[in-house]
Amino acid sequence: MIKKVLLGALALLITLAVLGRVLLPGLLENAMNVVDEHAPYAVSAEAQRLHDALFIVDLHSDSLLWDRDLGEQSSRGQVDLPRLRQGNVAIQVFSATTKSPSGQNYDSNEAGTDTITPLAIVSGWPSSTWGSLFARAQYQLDKLLELVDDNQPQLIFIRRKADLEALLAARQSDRAVVGAMYLIEGAHPLEGDVDKLDTLQAQGLQFVGLTHFFDNELGGSLHGISGEGLTAFGRSVVERADQLNMTIDIAHASPQMVRDVLALTSRPVILSHGGFKGHCDSARNLDDELMLQVADAGGIIGVGYWDATACDYSPAGIAKSIRYGIELMGLEHIALGSDYDGAVTTSLDTSELAALTQAMLDEDFTEAEIRAVMGGNMLRFLREQLPD
Ligand SMILES: [Zn+2]
Repeated sequence: MIKKVLLGALALLITLAVLGRVLLPGLLENAMNVVDEHAPYAVSAEAQRLHDALFIVDLHSDSLLWDRDLGEQSSRGQVDLPRLRQGNVAIQVFSATTKSPSGQNYDSNEAGTDTITPLAIVSGWPSSTWGSLFARAQYQLDKLLELVDDNQPQLIFIRRKADLEALLAARQSDRAVVGAMYLIEGAHPLEGDVDKLDTLQAQGLQFVGLTHFFDNELGGSLHGISGEGLTAFGRSVVERADQLNMTIDIAHASPQMVRDVLALTSRPVILSHGGFKGHCDSARNLDDELMLQVADAGGIIGVGYWDATACDYSPAGIAKSIRYGIELMGLEHIALGSDYDGAVTTSLDTSELAALTQAMLDEDFTEAEIRAVMGGNMLRFLREQLPD
């Protein structure tokens, strides 16, 4: 009798575990990566023609975090390869989130807790990733490289100037060819060892985020406790990234860390996803005065598509945030940084990007301004900054 009860309990546990593995990742993503319900956006023939002729670069999506095949169109989230094509995106930068504090917020987070561990377990990531942030960064990069392999020759992984030129050449005859790049969101996956930066670059890493939601070995987060600048280890990472011709991403860095980075490196930085405090007064955004210093150093801001960066995150609201950035920093410093699939609610997914082109036309942007912001600026930046 007891044996029967135990067997029954075991069967129930196994059923729950299997159901959890199958259902939980999708339920989590549906709850976290939300596109507001809306009627199809009206796009004029003129806006669509312009949109179809653009070279579009998006500097930040967290799609690798989730449990789906990005080669297939999904009803979940905001980015996959078919939807990138529908939106005429030429380059998507895929970022790796490797640790997130529980109760994550924009004001103040301790480093002690982590919600990525349970996500990795229910999503079936290899057990090596459960206790190692470095393994998580490698696993997400492997996922991206596998996606590239599975979608040859219409998905090109970009790490050098020649890859970028190959993408441009391929898109001359086939607009379905998309480029992918890799970014770590916070350099805690280095686990305090600067040599791991060389290892990750050898595998394809090109953009180095310094912090995420909590203070780490490199210094203070914009949403951490200390507010400190670069530590000695943080300085060594920035210096090594310089030597390797990698690009630093100052998204989520404390203001002091941003100032320290600008003082230390002569290479221009990106802020892969964010907004302007003078336009949208939120703890997620940086002060205009600091943004001007980023512009002076040749940096580029990827303008975010969600409430904490744009306040009004409708297509018209994103266009207004972009307009503010242009007026503050100058046209050549503004780009797109959606934060798609990064636990944000947006007004459009990547397949609907023509609605942003329409909104910019409606806000009296010139064609040259739209071309520059949508990707022209980042194309110029990558041509100058990627390693040979
Ligand atoms: Zn982020």
